[in-house]
Amino acid sequence: MNEYSFEVKAVVRVKFILVNGRTPRPQSFCALCCEPIGDSYLRETATRFSYCDHKCYVDHCKVPVLELQNYVRAS
Ligand SMILES: [Zn+2]
Repeated sequence: MNEYSFEVKAVVRVKFILVNGRTPRPQSFCALCCEPIGDSYLRETATRFSYCDHKCYVDHCKVPVLELQNYVRAS
């Protein structure tokens, strides 16, 4: 049982909202790929960053998790 990795997974799972049919004002840009946000996007509640789609959000989430896994493995 690895308590630390469990906490990371829980954070990744719950902390965003899906917005449909409402373009953000002022114009926002995806926090990962920097594309303009359209009328359907994800917003992370903790940081209020916007992501153009689910894929960008997941990719963004992978970065700290992978770093953490490397850290756990090395220690
Ligand atoms: Zn994006």
